[in-house]
Amino acid sequence: MHHWGPDLEAVAQRIVAYVLERAREEPPLDGPRTPDELQAATGATITPEGLGFAAAMALWEDVLSRACVSQDHPRALAFVPSAASEVSMLFDALVGASSIYGGSWMEGAGAIHAENQALAWLASLAGFPGSAGGCFVSGGTAGNLSALVAARHAAAQRRLGPRPARWRVAASAEAHSSIAAAARVMDIEVLGVPVDDRGRVTGEALAEVLAADPDGGDGVFAVVATAGTTNAGRLDDLAGVAAVVAAREDLWFHVDAAYGGAGMASARLRPRYAGIEAADSFVVDPHKWLFAPFDACALLYRRPEDARAAFTQHAAYLDVLHDEAEWNPSDLAHHLSRRARGLPFWFSLACHGTDAYAVSVDLTLDTARAAAHQVEDAPHLELVLAPELTVVLFRRVGWAPRDYQAWSEAALAQGLALCVPTTWQGETVLRLCIVNPRTTPDDIALVLASLT
Ligand SMILES: *Cc1c(COP(=O)(O)O)cnc(C)c1O
Repeated sequence: MHHWGPDLEAVAQRIVAYVLERAREEPPLDGPRTPDELQAATGATITPEGLGFAAAMALWEDVLSRACVSQDHPRALAFVPSAASEVSMLFDALVGASSIYGGSWMEGAGAIHAENQALAWLASLAGFPGSAGGCFVSGGTAGNLSALVAARHAAAQRRLGPRPARWRVAASAEAHSSIAAAARVMDIEVLGVPVDDRGRVTGEALAEVLAADPDGGDGVFAVVATAGTTNAGRLDDLAGVAAVVAAREDLWFHVDAAYGGAGMASARLRPRYAGIEAADSFVVDPHKWLFAPFDACALLYRRPEDARAAFTQHAAYLDVLHDEAEWNPSDLAHHLSRRARGLPFWFSLACHGTDAYAVSVDLTLDTARAAAHQVEDAPHLELVLAPELTVVLFRRVGWAPRDYQAWSEAALAQGLALCVPTTWQGETVLRLCIVNPRTTPDDIALVLASLT
Protein backbone atom coordinates (compact mmCIF):
# COMPACT_ATOMS: atom_id res chain seq x y z
CA MET A 1 0.00 0.00 0.00
CA HIS A 2 2.47 2.60 1.11
CA HIS A 3 4.52 3.14 -1.99
CA TRP A 4 4.08 4.97 -5.25
CA GLY A 5 4.22 2.89 -8.40
CA PRO A 6 3.47 3.25 -12.10
CA ASP A 7 -0.01 1.83 -11.58
CA LEU A 8 -0.79 4.79 -9.34
CA GLU A 9 -0.22 7.31 -12.13
CA ALA A 10 -3.43 6.22 -13.80
CA VAL A 11 -5.26 6.17 -10.47
CA ALA A 12 -4.10 9.68 -9.72
CA GLN A 13 -5.10 10.97 -13.12
CA ARG A 14 -8.57 9.51 -12.85
CA ILE A 15 -9.15 11.00 -9.41
CA VAL A 16 -7.81 14.40 -10.41
CA ALA A 17 -9.94 14.33 -13.57
CA TYR A 18 -13.00 13.52 -11.45
CA VAL A 19 -12.28 16.43 -9.11
CA LEU A 20 -11.77 18.81 -12.03
CA GLU A 21 -14.97 17.75 -13.71
CA ARG A 22 -16.87 18.11 -10.46
CA ALA A 23 -15.60 21.69 -10.12
CA ARG A 24 -16.14 22.56 -13.79
CA GLU A 25 -19.56 21.16 -14.63
CA GLU A 26 -22.97 21.60 -13.09
CA PRO A 27 -23.47 18.35 -11.15
CA PRO A 28 -26.55 16.17 -11.47
CA LEU A 29 -28.89 16.61 -8.50
CA ASP A 30 -28.94 12.87 -7.71
CA GLY A 31 -30.82 11.42 -4.75
CA PRO A 32 -31.05 8.67 -2.18
CA ARG A 33 -31.69 4.97 -2.78
CA THR A 34 -32.72 2.45 -0.19
CA PRO A 35 -30.14 0.40 1.72
CA ASP A 36 -31.36 -2.72 -0.10
CA GLU A 37 -30.98 -1.10 -3.52
CA LEU A 38 -27.49 0.08 -2.70
CA GLN A 39 -26.49 -3.29 -1.28
CA ALA A 40 -27.78 -5.00 -4.40
CA ALA A 41 -25.85 -2.58 -6.60
CA THR A 42 -22.53 -2.75 -4.73
CA GLY A 43 -22.36 -6.17 -3.15
CA ALA A 44 -19.63 -6.50 -0.54
CA THR A 45 -16.98 -3.84 -1.08
CA ILE A 46 -14.71 -4.75 1.83
CA THR A 47 -13.00 -8.02 1.02
CA PRO A 48 -9.73 -9.69 2.08
CA GLU A 49 -8.20 -9.29 -1.40
CA GLY A 50 -9.58 -5.82 -2.19
CA LEU A 51 -11.59 -4.86 -5.28
CA GLY A 52 -8.77 -3.05 -7.00
CA PHE A 53 -8.86 0.58 -8.01
CA ALA A 54 -10.88 0.32 -11.20
CA ALA A 55 -13.75 -1.58 -9.61
CA ALA A 56 -13.86 0.55 -6.47
CA MET A 57 -13.77 3.77 -8.47
CA ALA A 58 -16.49 2.54 -10.80
CA LEU A 59 -18.70 1.82 -7.78
CA TRP A 60 -18.16 5.34 -6.57
CA GLU A 61 -18.81 6.96 -9.92
CA ASP A 62 -21.72 4.83 -11.09
CA VAL A 63 -23.55 3.95 -7.89
CA LEU A 64 -22.50 5.66 -4.68
CA SER A 65 -21.95 9.23 -5.85
CA ARG A 66 -25.31 9.10 -7.67
CA ALA A 67 -27.01 8.29 -4.37
CA CYS A 68 -25.78 11.52 -2.74
CA VAL A 69 -27.59 14.80 -3.38
CA SER A 70 -25.25 17.44 -4.79
CA GLN A 71 -25.79 20.20 -2.28
CA ASP A 72 -24.30 22.72 -4.68
CA HIS A 73 -26.86 21.99 -7.39
CA PRO A 74 -28.66 25.26 -8.21
CA ARG A 75 -31.99 23.68 -7.32
CA ALA A 76 -30.88 22.15 -4.01
CA LEU A 77 -33.10 24.47 -1.98
CA ALA A 78 -33.94 22.46 1.14
CA PHE A 79 -32.55 22.71 4.69
CA VAL A 80 -29.53 24.99 4.30
CA PRO A 81 -27.65 23.83 1.21
CA SER A 82 -24.02 24.55 0.41
CA ALA A 83 -22.33 26.24 -2.52
CA ALA A 84 -18.56 25.88 -2.33
CA SER A 85 -16.70 28.21 -4.66
CA GLU A 86 -14.67 26.41 -7.29
CA VAL A 87 -11.34 27.28 -5.67
CA SER A 88 -12.48 26.29 -2.18
CA MET A 89 -13.61 22.93 -3.50
CA LEU A 90 -10.32 22.36 -5.30
CA PHE A 91 -8.28 23.51 -2.32
CA ASP A 92 -10.16 21.07 -0.13
CA ALA A 93 -8.74 18.27 -2.26
CA LEU A 94 -5.27 19.74 -1.67
CA VAL A 95 -5.86 19.89 2.09
CA GLY A 96 -6.82 16.23 2.00
CA ALA A 97 -3.50 15.42 0.35
CA SER A 98 -1.45 17.39 2.89
CA SER A 99 -1.62 15.39 6.14
CA ILE A 100 -1.89 18.47 8.32
CA TYR A 101 -2.67 18.10 11.99
CA GLY A 102 -4.72 21.20 12.69
CA GLY A 103 -4.97 20.85 16.47
CA SER A 104 -1.73 22.40 17.61
CA TRP A 105 0.42 25.32 16.53
CA MET A 106 3.55 23.22 16.83
CA GLU A 107 2.28 20.89 14.15
CA GLY A 108 0.03 23.08 12.01
CA ALA A 109 1.29 26.65 12.43
CA GLY A 110 0.95 27.73 8.80
CA ALA A 111 -2.53 26.30 8.41
CA ILE A 112 -3.69 27.73 11.74
CA HIS A 113 -2.23 31.14 10.89
CA ALA A 114 -4.27 31.19 7.68
CA GLU A 115 -7.41 29.94 9.43
CA ASN A 116 -6.98 32.63 12.05
CA GLN A 117 -6.93 35.36 9.40
CA ALA A 118 -10.22 34.05 8.03
CA LEU A 119 -11.61 33.96 11.58
CA ALA A 120 -10.37 37.51 12.17
CA TRP A 121 -12.35 38.70 9.14
CA LEU A 122 -15.53 37.18 10.59
CA ALA A 123 -14.72 38.65 14.01
CA SER A 124 -14.24 42.09 12.44
CA LEU A 125 -17.58 41.82 10.59
CA ALA A 126 -19.19 41.25 13.97
CA GLY A 127 -17.32 44.17 15.55
CA PHE A 128 -15.39 41.94 17.95
CA PRO A 129 -12.13 43.28 19.44
CA GLY A 130 -8.78 42.27 17.98
CA SER A 131 -8.18 40.04 21.01
CA ALA A 132 -11.10 37.80 19.99
CA GLY A 133 -10.38 34.43 18.44
CA GLY A 134 -11.51 30.88 18.05
CA CYS A 135 -11.24 27.92 15.77
CA PHE A 136 -13.07 25.95 13.11
CA VAL A 137 -15.19 23.02 14.24
CA SER A 138 -17.33 20.62 12.23
CA GLY A 139 -20.60 22.51 12.27
CA GLY A 140 -22.95 24.81 14.12
CA THR A 141 -24.02 21.95 16.37
CA ALA A 142 -20.47 21.40 17.61
CA GLY A 143 -19.86 25.16 17.79
CA ASN A 144 -22.97 25.88 19.84
CA LEU A 145 -22.11 23.06 22.24
CA SER A 146 -18.55 24.26 22.77
CA ALA A 147 -19.65 27.88 23.26
CA LEU A 148 -22.18 26.81 25.89
CA VAL A 149 -19.68 24.54 27.65
CA ALA A 150 -17.21 27.44 27.81
CA ALA A 151 -19.98 29.69 29.12
CA ARG A 152 -20.95 27.27 31.87
CA HIS A 153 -17.36 26.71 32.84
CA ALA A 154 -16.88 30.46 33.21
CA ALA A 155 -20.07 30.71 35.27
CA ALA A 156 -19.03 27.82 37.51
CA GLN A 157 -15.61 29.40 38.07
CA ARG A 158 -17.17 32.74 39.00
CA ARG A 159 -19.81 31.30 41.29
CA LEU A 160 -19.07 31.73 44.98
CA GLY A 161 -21.84 29.64 46.53
CA PRO A 162 -22.78 26.02 45.86
CA ARG A 163 -23.80 24.83 42.39
CA PRO A 164 -27.29 25.93 41.38
CA ALA A 165 -30.10 23.39 41.56
CA ARG A 166 -29.97 23.37 37.76
CA TRP A 167 -27.88 25.17 35.19
CA ARG A 168 -30.03 26.77 32.51
CA VAL A 169 -29.71 28.52 29.18
CA ALA A 170 -32.32 30.96 27.89
CA ALA A 171 -33.37 30.40 24.28
CA SER A 172 -36.52 30.53 22.17
CA ALA A 173 -38.42 27.71 20.52
CA GLU A 174 -37.22 29.10 17.17
CA ALA A 175 -33.60 28.47 18.21
CA HIS A 176 -31.96 25.67 16.25
CA SER A 177 -32.51 22.10 17.47
CA SER A 178 -28.80 21.91 18.30
CA ILE A 179 -29.37 24.19 21.32
CA ALA A 180 -31.78 21.68 22.86
CA ALA A 181 -29.36 18.92 21.88
CA ALA A 182 -26.49 20.73 23.62
CA ALA A 183 -28.66 21.12 26.71
CA ARG A 184 -29.30 17.37 26.75
CA VAL A 185 -25.60 16.59 26.35
CA MET A 186 -24.73 19.03 29.13
CA ASP A 187 -27.62 17.85 31.34
CA ILE A 188 -28.94 21.38 31.69
CA GLU A 189 -32.35 22.92 31.03
CA VAL A 190 -33.61 25.43 28.50
CA LEU A 191 -35.50 28.43 29.86
CA GLY A 192 -37.92 29.17 27.04
CA VAL A 193 -38.24 32.74 25.77
CA PRO A 194 -41.41 33.40 23.74
CA VAL A 195 -41.08 34.93 20.27
CA ASP A 196 -43.12 37.84 18.97
CA ASP A 197 -45.52 37.56 16.02
CA ARG A 198 -42.56 37.89 13.65
CA GLY A 199 -40.84 34.89 15.22
CA ARG A 200 -38.17 36.96 17.01
CA VAL A 201 -36.82 37.04 20.54
CA THR A 202 -36.86 40.60 21.86
CA GLY A 203 -35.06 42.15 24.81
CA GLU A 204 -38.41 42.77 26.50
CA ALA A 205 -39.45 39.13 26.22
CA LEU A 206 -36.12 38.00 27.66
CA ALA A 207 -36.33 40.51 30.53
CA GLU A 208 -39.88 39.36 31.32
CA VAL A 209 -38.91 35.70 31.39
CA LEU A 210 -35.99 36.40 33.71
CA ALA A 211 -38.13 38.61 35.96
CA ALA A 212 -40.93 36.02 36.14
CA ASP A 213 -38.57 33.15 36.97
CA PRO A 214 -39.37 31.78 40.45
CA ASP A 215 -35.65 31.24 41.11
CA GLY A 216 -34.82 34.79 40.07
CA GLY A 217 -32.84 33.50 37.11
CA ASP A 218 -30.46 31.58 39.38
CA GLY A 219 -28.42 29.10 37.37
CA VAL A 220 -29.16 30.83 34.06
CA PHE A 221 -25.65 31.25 32.71
CA ALA A 222 -26.23 32.04 29.03
CA VAL A 223 -28.67 33.51 26.55
CA VAL A 224 -28.73 32.22 22.98
CA ALA A 225 -30.04 34.50 20.26
CA THR A 226 -30.31 33.46 16.63
CA ALA A 227 -29.14 35.60 13.74
CA GLY A 228 -30.96 33.85 10.93
CA THR A 229 -33.33 31.16 12.15
CA THR A 230 -33.06 27.98 10.14
CA ASN A 231 -36.76 27.57 9.46
CA ALA A 232 -37.62 31.14 8.54
CA GLY A 233 -34.41 33.15 8.25
CA ARG A 234 -35.41 35.66 10.94
CA LEU A 235 -33.05 37.60 13.16
CA ASP A 236 -33.71 38.00 16.85
CA ASP A 237 -33.54 41.50 18.32
CA LEU A 238 -29.82 41.19 19.07
CA ALA A 239 -29.43 44.73 20.40
CA GLY A 240 -32.39 44.31 22.75
CA VAL A 241 -31.05 40.99 24.03
CA ALA A 242 -27.57 42.51 24.40
CA ALA A 243 -28.98 45.33 26.56
CA VAL A 244 -30.68 42.86 28.92
CA VAL A 245 -27.52 40.75 29.16
CA ALA A 246 -25.41 43.86 29.82
CA ALA A 247 -27.59 44.75 32.80
CA ARG A 248 -26.73 41.41 34.45
CA GLU A 249 -23.17 40.51 35.17
CA ASP A 250 -23.58 36.77 35.17
CA LEU A 251 -24.90 36.08 31.67
CA TRP A 252 -22.96 34.93 28.64
CA PHE A 253 -24.44 36.11 25.32
CA HIS A 254 -24.08 33.58 22.49
CA VAL A 255 -25.29 34.32 18.98
CA ASP A 256 -26.08 31.36 16.74
CA ALA A 257 -25.42 32.75 13.27
CA ALA A 258 -24.62 29.35 11.73
CA TYR A 259 -26.75 30.12 8.68
CA GLY A 260 -27.30 33.87 8.86
CA GLY A 261 -23.84 35.09 9.87
CA ALA A 262 -22.83 35.39 6.23
CA GLY A 263 -25.28 38.27 5.91
CA MET A 264 -22.85 40.44 7.88
CA ALA A 265 -20.72 40.56 4.72
CA SER A 266 -23.49 42.47 2.95
CA ALA A 267 -23.64 46.23 3.54
CA ARG A 268 -27.39 45.98 2.88
CA LEU A 269 -27.91 43.49 5.67
CA ARG A 270 -25.26 44.46 8.21
CA PRO A 271 -27.49 46.91 10.17
CA ARG A 272 -29.77 44.02 11.11
CA TYR A 273 -26.96 42.44 13.11
CA ALA A 274 -26.59 45.43 15.45
CA GLY A 275 -25.95 44.06 18.92
CA ILE A 276 -23.81 41.08 17.86
CA GLU A 277 -20.73 43.14 18.75
CA ALA A 278 -21.75 42.72 22.41
CA ALA A 279 -21.81 38.91 22.22
CA ASP A 280 -19.42 36.72 24.18
CA SER A 281 -19.34 34.16 21.38
CA PHE A 282 -20.92 33.40 18.02
CA VAL A 283 -20.83 30.73 15.34
CA VAL A 284 -21.13 30.97 11.58
CA ASP A 285 -20.94 28.04 9.15
CA PRO A 286 -18.89 28.84 6.03
CA HIS A 287 -20.27 25.57 4.61
CA LYS A 288 -23.72 27.17 4.50
CA TRP A 289 -23.79 30.67 3.01
CA LEU A 290 -20.07 31.50 2.76
CA PHE A 291 -19.21 29.28 -0.18
CA ALA A 292 -16.93 26.76 1.54
CA PRO A 293 -17.20 22.96 1.38
CA PHE A 294 -18.41 20.80 4.27
CA ASP A 295 -17.59 20.80 7.05
CA ALA A 296 -16.64 24.13 8.57
CA CYS A 297 -18.08 26.18 11.41
CA ALA A 298 -16.25 29.26 12.63
CA LEU A 299 -16.51 29.49 16.42
CA LEU A 300 -15.48 32.89 17.80
CA TYR A 301 -14.99 33.92 21.41
CA ARG A 302 -14.66 37.47 22.71
CA ARG A 303 -12.25 36.11 25.34
CA PRO A 304 -10.55 32.98 24.01
CA GLU A 305 -9.06 32.39 27.46
CA ASP A 306 -12.55 31.39 28.66
CA ALA A 307 -12.55 28.57 26.12
CA ARG A 308 -8.99 27.57 26.93
CA ALA A 309 -9.90 27.23 30.59
CA ALA A 310 -12.76 24.89 29.67
CA PHE A 311 -11.17 22.71 26.99
CA THR A 312 -7.39 22.43 27.29
CA GLN A 313 -6.46 18.79 27.71
CA HIS A 314 -3.49 17.95 29.91
CA ALA A 315 -1.40 14.81 29.71
CA ALA A 316 2.23 13.87 29.77
CA TYR A 317 2.23 13.49 25.99
CA LEU A 318 0.48 16.85 25.38
CA ASP A 319 2.06 19.29 27.78
CA VAL A 320 4.89 20.08 25.38
CA LEU A 321 2.21 21.85 23.31
CA HIS A 322 1.17 24.40 25.89
CA ASP A 323 3.36 27.33 25.06
CA GLU A 324 1.54 30.54 26.01
CA ALA A 325 2.49 32.29 22.79
CA GLU A 326 1.06 29.57 20.56
CA TRP A 327 -2.49 29.22 19.34
CA ASN A 328 -3.84 25.70 19.68
CA PRO A 329 -7.29 25.19 18.15
CA SER A 330 -7.57 22.00 20.20
CA ASP A 331 -7.74 24.15 23.35
CA LEU A 332 -10.74 26.13 22.13
CA ALA A 333 -13.48 23.52 21.63
CA HIS A 334 -14.35 19.95 22.53
CA HIS A 335 -11.96 18.21 20.16
CA LEU A 336 -8.28 17.33 19.86
CA SER A 337 -7.30 15.90 16.47
CA ARG A 338 -8.70 18.09 13.76
CA ARG A 339 -8.52 18.59 10.04
CA ALA A 340 -7.52 22.15 9.09
CA ARG A 341 -11.05 22.48 7.81
CA GLY A 342 -10.99 26.27 7.63
CA LEU A 343 -8.32 26.26 4.90
CA PRO A 344 -10.61 25.94 1.86
CA PHE A 345 -12.60 28.91 3.16
CA TRP A 346 -9.39 30.88 3.80
CA PHE A 347 -8.01 30.10 0.34
CA SER A 348 -11.15 31.23 -1.44
CA LEU A 349 -11.28 34.42 0.65
CA ALA A 350 -7.61 35.09 -0.03
CA CYS A 351 -8.04 34.52 -3.79
CA HIS A 352 -11.26 36.44 -4.35
CA GLY A 353 -11.17 39.07 -1.62
CA THR A 354 -13.93 39.96 0.79
CA ASP A 355 -15.70 42.27 -1.71
CA ALA A 356 -16.51 39.26 -3.85
CA TYR A 357 -18.19 37.67 -0.83
CA ALA A 358 -20.38 40.74 -0.36
CA VAL A 359 -21.35 40.60 -4.05
CA SER A 360 -22.20 36.88 -3.89
CA VAL A 361 -24.25 37.23 -0.71
CA ASP A 362 -26.16 40.13 -2.29
CA LEU A 363 -26.80 38.03 -5.37
CA THR A 364 -28.49 35.32 -3.33
CA LEU A 365 -30.47 38.01 -1.53
CA ASP A 366 -31.72 39.32 -4.88
CA THR A 367 -32.64 35.80 -5.97
CA ALA A 368 -34.61 35.26 -2.75
CA ARG A 369 -36.49 38.54 -3.32
CA ALA A 370 -37.17 37.55 -6.94
CA ALA A 371 -38.48 34.20 -5.71
CA ALA A 372 -40.85 35.97 -3.33
CA HIS A 373 -42.14 38.15 -6.18
CA GLN A 374 -42.67 35.13 -8.39
CA VAL A 375 -44.70 33.51 -5.62
CA GLU A 376 -46.79 36.67 -5.22
CA ASP A 377 -47.44 36.78 -8.95
CA ALA A 378 -48.52 33.13 -9.21
CA PRO A 379 -52.28 32.62 -8.74
CA HIS A 380 -51.80 29.14 -7.26
CA LEU A 381 -49.26 30.29 -4.64
CA GLU A 382 -49.29 32.61 -1.63
CA LEU A 383 -46.32 34.13 0.15
CA VAL A 384 -46.38 33.20 3.85
CA LEU A 385 -43.27 35.07 4.93
CA ALA A 386 -41.26 37.57 2.89
CA PRO A 387 -37.54 36.81 3.11
CA GLU A 388 -35.54 38.77 5.66
CA LEU A 389 -32.44 36.83 4.61
CA THR A 390 -32.78 34.15 1.93
CA VAL A 391 -35.51 31.84 3.23
CA VAL A 392 -38.88 32.07 1.45
CA LEU A 393 -41.96 30.39 2.95
CA PHE A 394 -45.06 30.00 0.81
CA ARG A 395 -48.17 27.88 0.39
CA ARG A 396 -49.70 26.10 -2.57
CA VAL A 397 -53.37 27.05 -2.41
CA GLY A 398 -55.55 24.05 -1.65
CA TRP A 399 -52.81 21.59 -0.79
CA ALA A 400 -52.81 19.26 2.22
CA PRO A 401 -49.58 18.10 3.87
CA ARG A 402 -49.57 14.86 1.84
CA ASP A 403 -49.74 16.85 -1.43
CA TYR A 404 -46.60 18.75 -0.46
CA GLN A 405 -44.85 15.54 0.48
CA ALA A 406 -45.80 13.78 -2.76
CA TRP A 407 -44.70 16.75 -4.87
CA SER A 408 -41.40 17.01 -2.99
CA GLU A 409 -40.58 13.33 -3.50
CA ALA A 410 -41.46 13.50 -7.19
CA ALA A 411 -39.38 16.64 -7.70
CA LEU A 412 -36.32 14.90 -6.27
CA ALA A 413 -36.95 11.67 -8.16
CA GLN A 414 -37.17 13.63 -11.43
CA GLY A 415 -33.94 15.49 -10.71
CA LEU A 416 -35.85 18.77 -10.70
CA ALA A 417 -35.19 20.04 -7.19
CA LEU A 418 -34.55 19.20 -3.57
CA CYS A 419 -37.26 21.21 -1.85
CA VAL A 420 -39.08 19.92 1.22
CA PRO A 421 -42.05 21.17 3.20
CA THR A 422 -41.79 22.58 6.70
CA THR A 423 -44.35 23.97 9.12
CA TRP A 424 -44.89 27.61 10.01
CA GLN A 425 -47.30 28.50 12.82
CA GLY A 426 -48.80 25.04 12.60
CA GLU A 427 -49.35 25.04 8.83
CA THR A 428 -47.47 22.87 6.33
CA VAL A 429 -45.81 25.17 3.80
CA LEU A 430 -42.98 25.03 1.30
CA ARG A 431 -39.59 26.50 2.08
CA LEU A 432 -36.83 27.66 -0.24
CA CYS A 433 -33.39 28.42 1.18
CA ILE A 434 -31.14 30.13 -1.34
CA VAL A 435 -27.41 30.26 -0.57
CA ASN A 436 -26.07 29.44 -4.02
CA PRO A 437 -25.11 32.33 -6.32
CA ARG A 438 -25.58 29.85 -9.20
CA THR A 439 -29.31 29.62 -8.42
CA THR A 440 -31.11 31.94 -10.85
CA PRO A 441 -34.67 33.29 -10.95
CA ASP A 442 -35.18 30.86 -13.86
CA ASP A 443 -34.35 27.95 -11.55
CA ILE A 444 -36.99 29.21 -9.13
CA ALA A 445 -39.51 29.64 -11.97
CA LEU A 446 -38.95 26.03 -13.00
CA VAL A 447 -39.68 24.81 -9.48
CA LEU A 448 -42.74 27.00 -9.01
CA ALA A 449 -44.16 26.00 -12.39
CA SER A 450 -44.14 22.36 -11.29
CA LEU A 451 -46.50 23.24 -8.42
CA THR A 452 -49.53 23.94 -10.64
C1 LIG B 1 -27.54 24.74 10.46
C2 LIG B 1 -27.68 25.40 11.76
C3 LIG B 1 -27.10 24.87 12.90
C4 LIG B 1 -26.39 23.53 12.89
O1 LIG B 1 -25.28 23.58 12.10
P1 LIG B 1 -24.57 22.23 11.60
O2 LIG B 1 -23.42 22.80 10.83
O3 LIG B 1 -25.57 21.55 10.73
O4 LIG B 1 -24.19 21.46 12.78
C5 LIG B 1 -27.21 25.56 14.07
N1 LIG B 1 -27.87 26.71 14.12
C6 LIG B 1 -28.47 27.27 13.04
C7 LIG B 1 -29.19 28.56 13.18
C8 LIG B 1 -28.40 26.62 11.81
O5 LIG B 1 -29.00 27.14 10.75
